[in-house]
Amino acid sequence: MRVTFLGTGCPVPSPHRFGPSQVVRHGDTAILIDCGSGVTQRLAAAGLSGADLDAVLLTHLHSDHVMDVFQLILSSWHQGRQRPQKIFGPPGTKVYVDGLMALWRAEMDQRIAHERRPSTSALETEVTEFGPGWVGRFGEMEVSAVQVDHRPVVHAYGFALTACGRRLVVSGDTRPCEGLVEAARGADVLVHEVVARGGMPVVEGVRTAETVANVESYHTRSDQVGAVAAEAGVGCLVLTHVTPPGTDRAALLEEVGKHYGGPVVVAEDLATIDVERMRVTFASGGVVALGRH
Ligand SMILES: [Zn+2]
Ligand SMILES: [Zn+2]
Repeated sequence: MRVTFLGTGCPVPSPHRFGPSQVVRHGDTAILIDCGSGVTQRLAAAGLSGADLDAVLLTHLHSDHVMDVFQLILSSWHQGRQRPQKIFGPPGTKVYVDGLMALWRAEMDQRIAHERRPSTSALETEVTEFGPGWVGRFGEMEVSAVQVDHRPVVHAYGFALTACGRRLVVSGDTRPCEGLVEAARGADVLVHEVVARGGMPVVEGVRTAETVANVESYHTRSDQVGAVAAEAGVGCLVLTHVTPPGTDRAALLEEVGKHYGGPVVVAEDLATIDVERMRVTFASGGVVALGRH
């Protein structure tokens, strides 16, 4: 299994960290987890396209995680996809996807009539809503949904993926929660969201101290995420959904390292973690071994 980070940011726009999204590949199978802003551009940069995806999995329906669902569907069609887009998400996903397709119906009909492409299957969607537990098997990858705590968001999930005896867990958006620790116990790689403690300043007219406290409260702070990884005993912790996107990486490692002694990677857009070889490759070409697990 290889996970490539397409976007490692959050709702705050950043030219370096696009909206949350990652593609997990094993053999010929590719599944997208979340669909943040800029996902189709990053897929292209990774040498992939929406036509290659076997499934799209959504952790929750916060806008930063689903913003480019329609862009993905439309560009997949333009990229020659000839099969419906399979979308798996929590309750509410069908209403969201159907609403999106209805919103764009007139524009799509005009394109279909004018562009005369060989197939329109790519513009069809097959939505499956899941609860905690089994989601599906994609090639050799088996995926389960892990309920996390992102209240006031009611339906929020992480994912546990296994293939060839290796295990990858993706937190989605959550405050520290026991369910995720249990699901991640002994995993080879834990991809976890993080918000830098005190990283978002109070700015008049933008955010109050209450705003900062509320945002931090339903995410996992930099002084908490190391303990999550340590308690779960994971082989490697990868930090993504970096909030704010410009967070100082060295300071982040310093804080996380107080609680977790294993390897920690601050993900970058277009970095790839190879879960079998325990290696990270950055877009710059840099490669780092993450130790044996
Ligand atoms: Zn988010
Ligand atoms: Zn969220």
